[in-house]
Amino acid sequence: MSIRKIVTLPDPVLRTRARKIKVFDSKVQRLADDMLETMRAAPGVGLAAPQLGRSQRLILVEYAEADDDPEAPPVPPKLFVVANPEIVRHSTETVSANEGCLSIPGYLGEVERFQSITLRGYNLHGKPLRVKATGWLARIFQHEIDHLDGVLFIDRATQVWKVEDQEAVQVSPTQDESRKRQAVSS
Ligand SMILES: [Zn+2]
Repeated sequence: MSIRKIVTLPDPVLRTRARKIKVFDSKVQRLADDMLETMRAAPGVGLAAPQLGRSQRLILVEYAEADDDPEAPPVPPKLFVVANPEIVRHSTETVSANEGCLSIPGYLGEVERFQSITLRGYNLHGKPLRVKATGWLARIFQHEIDHLDGVLFIDRATQVWKVEDQEAVQVSPTQDESRKRQAVSS
């Protein structure tokens, strides 16, 4: 595993529709390993292969869903590695929140996303998988899947602004009152 450089705008790979993964071999496994290490080092809650300059349909999401009860013990983050992900169902309800992107450092935007989604895809052994996600987890998946189609959060945002303090972009979402000020980067 190695930490690799995250590609940033205006690199054209971020605007390219990524290719489907057809062979689930050790190269794909190695790419996933590098993505995991790079995402954790950033740190981020999600990463798509084009962000490492590889135009392939592979995403990683690692996120701990916060409990509504502030006194509940912290939930360990759950890791999802999905090849060829596709949203097969989504809620009609949408929700607006702030997002950042590791490929667009220093910017945040308010983006409307589906409140819940069901996605289909494959694990690294080529076995079909299905994930149901709501809230922030659903948002991160939608952000990463957009990357595979060359779509960035700034395309969907109702407003985009520059953050002076880089730290603000790296804050993880929480359920508290300051949530509106916080954002996920992926
Ligand atoms: Zn991103």
